Amino acid sequence: MSSTHSIYNRLENHENGKSFDINEINTYCHENHEPLIAKYDLSQGLDKANLADRARNMWRYKEVLPIKDSDYIISLNEGYTPIHHLLALQQKYDFMHLNMKDESHNPTGSFKARGLGMAVSKANELGIKEFCIPTAGNAGSALSAYCAKGGLKAHIFMPKQTPQVFQLDCKIMGANVTLVDGNISDAGAVMRKANKENQWFDVTTLKEPFRLEGKKTMGYEIAEQNQWQLPDVIIYPTGGGTGLIGIWKAFKEMLELGWIDHIPSRMVAVQTNGCNPIVQAFNQGLMSSTPYEDPAITIANGLRVPHAFGHKLILKTLKESNGIALSVSEHDILNGLTELSQKEGLFISPEGAAVWEAAKILKASEWIKRDDKVLLLNTGSAYKYAENLYSHFL
Ligand SMILES: *Cc1c(COP(=O)(O)O)cnc(C)c1O
Repeated sequence: MSSTHSIYNRLENHENGKSFDINEINTYCHENHEPLIAKYDLSQGLDKANLADRARNMWRYKEVLPIKDSDYIISLNEGYTPIHHLLALQQKYDFMHLNMKDESHNPTGSFKARGLGMAVSKANELGIKEFCIPTAGNAGSALSAYCAKGGLKAHIFMPKQTPQVFQLDCKIMGANVTLVDGNISDAGAVMRKANKENQWFDVTTLKEPFRLEGKKTMGYEIAEQNQWQLPDVIIYPTGGGTGLIGIWKAFKEMLELGWIDHIPSRMVAVQTNGCNPIVQAFNQGLMSSTPYEDPAITIANGLRVPHAFGHKLILKTLKESNGIALSVSEHDILNGLTELSQKEGLFISPEGAAVWEAAKILKASEWIKRDDKVLLLNTGSAYKYAENLYSHFL
């Protein structure tokens, strides 16, 4: 055993604080169907100076991650992605500080690597060998990769209209792939039926506690890469919401650790006009959302999520941070893709392009002020979406 010195010490239902044994395999709370949240003994303090000579990947924050024995970590060097200064767009649209954290640099081309790297590693520590997931694409690729690296088995369920490359990379990496008629929620239903006996561990977004812990490392990096001064506005493409919730969780942990002295950041959730359950709930002042009927096909596959299991946590994050939710059109997304490519040389995911379009809308309405420090999240690589883009550009 080689200890990570992790200070993970509790697992709690986010709504009622009910606690769960951290040495057992847990999913979500079966009483009220709410996610479980990992908690740490932050009061004992940690010195952030220790980070200085650690590897530049998400495991540099190991004390505030759930793995206890580093022998179980399955890593492909995920994390520590670059932050680009978008100087040309900043000048054109009269921002003073416009940056983008570029998660396309992760293994398998998206930030899903963080969440699944963490979930698979923790499950590995608890002795789990076989996994299943419903996916809009990137989560399937990431699960397949970590299972391959760890000698574990992955069962992937994805909507038929997912770009074929996702099916391809999952299969090549040795996963079982099932194509499903319908959207990601339909894929989840087919998966649960196939997994009636629960022989596979279900790593659906927030139905296990640790993908969130992987996604949270984006928040630690945002602070560390900005010399522990957080941005004023963080704009994030929201499907299942783990990234948004995770970044906010990291900020609160760092505040408790004394690594930052305040949290100025307002969190923004971006969806598409054809599937915006969080935006609708937010605009009605609700703290929970209802499943979106007939979500429209979009080139931003990761945003076609009619119902997020963590919907309450997403809405709570928006409220606590004085944030906002808004959606953009398919036309906007294509426009954003073109602009980021042509002005910044960044070929980014449609989800990331949606974020840039949202930034412009919020700037025009003055919700974002000229001198706000704005950070966009690009969650994935455009290369995996090529199939969605051919007909628009060739
Ligand atoms: C999954 C995904 C999203 C949505 O992320 P959540 O954390 O589930 O909200 C956004 N962009 C890309 C590229 C994705 O793969």
